[in-house]
Amino acid sequence: MKALRLHQSGKIQLHNEPIPNPEGGKVLVQVTSVAICGSDLHWLNEGGIGDAKITHPLILGHEAAGIIASGPHKGTRVAIDPAINCGECKYCQEGNPNLCQNMRFSGHGLQDGALREYMSWPEKFLFPIPDALSLNDAAMLEPLGVAIYAMDIANIKPGIRAGVFGCGPIGLLIIQLARAMGATQIIAAEKLPHRLEAARACGATDTFLIQSEEDVPDFFKITEGEGVDVAFEAAGSNHALQCAIQAAGYGTTIILVGIPNDDEHRLTASQVRRKELTFKLCRRMKHTYPRAIRLAEQGLVDLKSIVTHRFSIDEFQEAFSVAANRQGLKVIIEPTT
Ligand SMILES: [Zn+2]
Ligand SMILES: [Zn+2]
Repeated sequence: MKALRLHQSGKIQLHNEPIPNPEGGKVLVQVTSVAICGSDLHWLNEGGIGDAKITHPLILGHEAAGIIASGPHKGTRVAIDPAINCGECKYCQEGNPNLCQNMRFSGHGLQDGALREYMSWPEKFLFPIPDALSLNDAAMLEPLGVAIYAMDIANIKPGIRAGVFGCGPIGLLIIQLARAMGATQIIAAEKLPHRLEAARACGATDTFLIQSEEDVPDFFKITEGEGVDVAFEAAGSNHALQCAIQAAGYGTTIILVGIPNDDEHRLTASQVRRKELTFKLCRRMKHTYPRAIRLAEQGLVDLKSIVTHRFSIDEFQEAFSVAANRQGLKVIIEPTT
């Protein structure tokens, strides 16, 4: 089978490898759809993400779906939950599987991911999808889960004002969820015009095209001088964080969703103290697949419009370059179609 391995930063190669042999609660999955994530681009460009560095030739890919290809459920279309938690450690026991200390995560560290034709995966981390969802939709349930979890920790209430800074796929999904949850004003800011256009289509009420690193618009002006009730930093940039801090109302919360390139969040102490801001960070997600599936199935969230590019696994170079250049929105690689 074909498998795509990252050897070191900038060097990714297609290999011919044996089909894995599933054992111990695992089944074989024919991988049909893998969405490229900003975190994959960190691995590719920097040979790691944050303080995790590449230690062996790694198969990337954690936003994935496929068809079960062995065992009694052969033929079932599934979303692949990339996070295999142990279920035993203190954090798992306390109901925080996303903080599991024995976590294996698809396409991270020592755990090979989904950018291959077949993978062996524990069946309890596979979620069957309804007919209404395509397999490419199913690959998008992982980023939707990240957005859902960001909303969970944000404590959204009906009628609030929200600000979303950075309108990549996660930002766009947060905007859709904010709209579905009854936010009455959704401010979106973004550097790329086509992404801002998508933000409007997703439900943003006030959009700002960011012109430069110094450009921090006066978001207060359009919130009757009150600021937003919750701000999401979804770009992984300190500029977006600055915008979020500017937009945030007094005593409100900023959710840090993005992963910064330089592994650093910068704050001006006086500014954030004066507003008595709360900062919350989110680590992936917690059991969001069932909710993500229902939201997508009922059309409360539109995943199709987020996917703008599709490539075969042989076209991986082009797929990664489109994703790295932030052309379109989401790029999907289809290993077996
Ligand atoms: Zn991702
Ligand atoms: Zn655990």
